[in-house]
Amino acid sequence: MRNDHERLKRALLHEMPESLKLKINACLQQENITAEAYQALIGELRARKTLTSPRDAINWYPSINHAACTRCDLCISNCPKGVYAYDGDKIVVREPYNCVLLCSKCMRQCPYGAITFPDKNEYRHYIVYI
Ligand code: SF4
Ligand code: SF4
Repeated sequence: MRNDHERLKRALLHEMPESLKLKINACLQQENITAEAYQALIGELRARKTLTSPRDAINWYPSINHAACTRCDLCISNCPKGVYAYDGDKIVVREPYNCVLLCSKCMRQCPYGAITFPDKNEYRHYIVYI
């Protein structure tokens, strides 16, 4: 529930119609909101989310510092989008444009701090809710 709450708060950083903003704010202010109500609103946001440019024109994807990477494989096994792969004995970013825009889960999970992303604030305008 806490994650859902944070997700809704983050959605407010993007452009969207005023009516949707009001709906999110009303949800955030309710004290006894149910998990179902959160999920319904998150589902609506997912359906209304759109990119302002083609995904392959947006250079949001991870970079690996190979000097720090120990090839623990966590990034390969945890990324649901198949962004990482082995190239010989090195882990590489094989499918950069499969990376979900503004996701940085693998950076937080890398135990060796070997993954970096650009500044999210420079990429928020690529996502809007219609
Ligand atoms: S999680 Fe980090 S250390 Fe592990 S393989 Fe990926 S980049 Fe390398
Ligand atoms: S940020 Fe998310 S989608 Fe992108 S590579 Fe990492 S885990 Fe995969």
